[in-house]
Amino acid sequence: HPSWYSPKTGIYNSIHSPRSLPTDPFLDVVCFIFSHPHDGVLALIDSLSGTSISYSNLLTLVKSLASGLHKMGVSQGDVVLLLLPNSIYYPIALLSVMYLGAVVTPLNPLSSVDEIRKRVNDCGVSFAFTIPENVKKLEPLGIPIISVPENEKDLKHACFSCFFNLISGNFVLPQKSVIKQEDTAAILFSSGTTGVSKGVVLTHRNLIAMVELSARFEASKYEYSSSKNVYLDVLPMFHLYGLSLFATGLLSLGSTIVVMRKFDIDETIRVIDKYNVTHFHVVPPILTALTAKAKGVNGSKLQSLRQVGSSAAPLTTKAINDFVQAFPHVDFIQGYGMTESGTVGACGFNTEKFRNYSSLGLLAPNMEAKVVDWNSGAFLPPGRSGELWLRGPSTMKGYLNNEEATMSTVDKDGWLHTGDIVYFDQDGYLYLSDRLKEFIKYKGFQIPPADLEAVLILHPEIADVAVTGAKDEEAGEIPVAFVVKKVGSVLSPKDVIDFVAKQVAPFKKVRKVVFTDKIPRSVTGKILRKQLRNCLPSKL
Ligand code: AMP
Repeated sequence: HPSWYSPKTGIYNSIHSPRSLPTDPFLDVVCFIFSHPHDGVLALIDSLSGTSISYSNLLTLVKSLASGLHKMGVSQGDVVLLLLPNSIYYPIALLSVMYLGAVVTPLNPLSSVDEIRKRVNDCGVSFAFTIPENVKKLEPLGIPIISVPENEKDLKHACFSCFFNLISGNFVLPQKSVIKQEDTAAILFSSGTTGVSKGVVLTHRNLIAMVELSARFEASKYEYSSSKNVYLDVLPMFHLYGLSLFATGLLSLGSTIVVMRKFDIDETIRVIDKYNVTHFHVVPPILTALTAKAKGVNGSKLQSLRQVGSSAAPLTTKAINDFVQAFPHVDFIQGYGMTESGTVGACGFNTEKFRNYSSLGLLAPNMEAKVVDWNSGAFLPPGRSGELWLRGPSTMKGYLNNEEATMSTVDKDGWLHTGDIVYFDQDGYLYLSDRLKEFIKYKGFQIPPADLEAVLILHPEIADVAVTGAKDEEAGEIPVAFVVKKVGSVLSPKDVIDFVAKQVAPFKKVRKVVFTDKIPRSVTGKILRKQLRNCLPSKL
């Protein structure tokens, strides 16, 4: 057996040497990020307007917003909702809240009123950042709102506390709160292996580990300075993939981040060329779109690009090969992460010579893994497929107010059961072959079937329902609802789709409906999802 695998314990260790993490128990992620100063470099650029924020100003802006928030009454332990699309102001909002020792909970700004209300109640939100067009959705909840207009000139909507007013003028900071590494910094949501979405509690230590073990470690391998790198961000910062890179990790490296508010492939091409983007992190549908466009891009051929990384959902071999052929000058890598494990769960770090693109790479430094036979519980050696268990400093503290779900996901020895089926090859590279868990991945976004079932079962003409994912060329997977109608119902598929669409964020919509007589269930009443997937019509 290779030295990094112990057949006795079943533990896989990282091939990389461990990286030291700060040991000071009183350290917050904001101070950790800014302990690496990068004056003289642009930190964030708005792709459309070109408005930018330099590293020299970034900490001042974070502190002045923190001071404004403190005046509004935000204090340590308060939970602040970030209902925001990507913008150069997103990281400032996020970091200023954490600077005060308050907790952020980011949410897709396209969420429905019901989804927002649920989040506010689940997390005990007491302040919220949002864009002017979302203020109406938040107003009925009666929490103080900080509106973030697109730019400083656009203050006409600012009938509430406005971001730009809060950061302007002289500021007086409150005495710095005593924040411990183990204090909660953020609550993101994920269904984990089963059930409805749950709050994933991430501490300052978890985020510090992500900054150090993914961004800083990855950058340590470049032969050039990371402050010369220009990243394009189209990934939403409300998801951990975007948050850990663009609102925290890369800011500790001094890289420049060009932020796009909304993904558009033509705009992406223009922006890569205009700003000489060197690094681009994507999800599979974006990679495919980029490959398709490459053929039509005359002249520029996106020559500035050096590295493209894909994560969050599976890529087909064809998609990878097409991309690599279209962009021979680009280093392609895949990464693996999970909200509960942190983005460094087992990040796919390639070595310079590595060209096995279908692997997710090597286990990240300081991470341990096990591959477990899900029937017998046996620990499996390299070459054998089983459920991936992970343990490391970025693993979540637990699910919010849900001891039972926490205990069934993180065992007493600290192993996070990921619900992903993987194997390691003889060289320590990780491959993902399937998912044991229930959720659907639509364009890299997680959709817990139980969330949609909870909405659907409230329809007066629906007797029973189950949701599962069907393969889809463009999106990866789409949600399909199996519906048992009540006697006499004349419900159409469109009625079902519209009913859900009104209540959830657009990406979560049911996209197909199959009417059926019965939902397959186990004796204990659990939906037999595998059986359901096998019942999917071959042509949807
Ligand atoms: P989320 O918590 O939304 O980030 O989802 C995490 C899940 O996304 C993982 O448990 C995997 O099932 C899936 N995933 C993440 N990275 C990859 C990847 N590179 N290839 C395939 N699936 C992935």
